[in-house]
Amino acid sequence: MYRNVKNVPYYIFGKGSLAQLDDLLRERRHEEGEGVVFFIDHFFYGKDLVASLPVEQGDRVIYVDATHEPTTDYMDVLAAKVREANSSPLSCMVALGGGSVMDACKAVANLMTNPGLAEDYQGWELVKNPPVYKIAVPTLAGTGSECSRTCVLSNVKKRLKLGMNSDYTVFDQVIMDPELTRSVPRDQFFYTGMDTYMHCFETLTGSYRNRIVDALAEKAVAMCEDIFLSDDMMDEVNLEKMMIASYLGGMATGYVGVVHPFSAGLSVALHMRHGIANCYALTVLEDIYPEQHAQFMRMLERQQVHLPGGICRRLSAEDYDILYEGAIVHENSLSNRLGPDFKQILSKQNVIERFKRM
Ligand code: ZN
Repeated sequence: MYRNVKNVPYYIFGKGSLAQLDDLLRERRHEEGEGVVFFIDHFFYGKDLVASLPVEQGDRVIYVDATHEPTTDYMDVLAAKVREANSSPLSCMVALGGGSVMDACKAVANLMTNPGLAEDYQGWELVKNPPVYKIAVPTLAGTGSECSRTCVLSNVKKRLKLGMNSDYTVFDQVIMDPELTRSVPRDQFFYTGMDTYMHCFETLTGSYRNRIVDALAEKAVAMCEDIFLSDDMMDEVNLEKMMIASYLGGMATGYVGVVHPFSAGLSVALHMRHGIANCYALTVLEDIYPEQHAQFMRMLERQQVHLPGGICRRLSAEDYDILYEGAIVHENSLSNRLGPDFKQILSKQNVIERFKRM
């Protein structure tokens, strides 16, 4: 049996395309009493961008705190906020932000039409009812959240990082306006962009393969190399390229390899954000990904991005246990690169030593 793959049905791409959001929303504002809920990255609080959005009476703007990765508890809080303000069904939800904000919008749109809590839907094909119509407007490029079928959520109590994997989680519409990424701090642009690079090379160096995914991933990797080995990763052409690479990379999401498990360990133990955690992970995997490690070090240097060392020094034995467990639990990914006997290379001592080198 071959998988039946769902992609984003509509996208608009181009500089200034955010201006078309108004028209798209007008098509959705068909019945009285229904409103639009905007999920906006708190980074934009008080900024001109928000004032320029087509917010009408009865709509609601909710600022999403993207300081940490989205948790299931936070999704329940956001869902309650939306329900309390809107008694009638919503006509649309709009996410304006990076991966965390888009993931929050996906999760809450599912919760609006499905009973229970966010954690009830962590897993595969658990969402039963069609969600609220939703539009993504990425303001950061690299996570691929704008076109993937999951939203990554941390369940703090269960120490579980797992999304709502479902065709219902896919956005109905994406607006890719490269202009929106111009104000991103340079380091963040790099870390987030690298997420595409890592996803894609991990997929391409794994043993579980799919030809369409390979084709998309190869293109996304080549684009990332172009961008991050050029003189300025944030020039006009590169802002466009990065948005396209993220989109292709999102469609190429398959099995990852060793970078993402190590990154997950850092997120679970130190609450580190995903993009930068990936970067730290690759710095200590030179034996497992020699080519990509060397390429990555060149990119860091070319863009003069600083990755301060010593992040895992002087942790308690318990912290090292959490780091190890947080990484080693991702068996499918680890065996994708290293085979089923991955623990022969990644013994507990080996894993902890790698963390200590970061
Ligand atoms: Zn990732």
